[in-house]
Amino acid sequence: MPDAQQTFAVRCDQHRTRMVEVTLRYDETQFEKSGFQCAEPGCTRRYTSGRGYFDVINGSVLAEKFQQSCPKCKTPMYLSEVEQDGEIWRCPNPPICVFEQKMVG
Ligand SMILES: [Zn+2]
Ligand SMILES: [Zn+2]
Repeated sequence: MPDAQQTFAVRCDQHRTRMVEVTLRYDETQFEKSGFQCAEPGCTRRYTSGRGYFDVINGSVLAEKFQQSCPKCKTPMYLSEVEQDGEIWRCPNPPICVFEQKMVG
């Protein structure tokens, strides 16, 4: 049985495809936790609920200047669904915080 940890359908914010859940480990930032990685060849995008979207190039974490943050809990949101007329971004903290926002365009 899966534990209580929620599995998110996180999508790459550049490719809009489903990301794969991975264990991230980067000595540069003493940063180790489960996160998501884009499955597209050559894509450097990662996502964790702690820091949102960012790039990893040659093992180095590139800080992302801007995140789509949840207005309620300030956590970086993830791209969850792609529709014809926009994107659905969600807060990664349910049930503590439930928020979704549609970005049109
Ligand atoms: Zn990607
Ligand atoms: Zn939130």
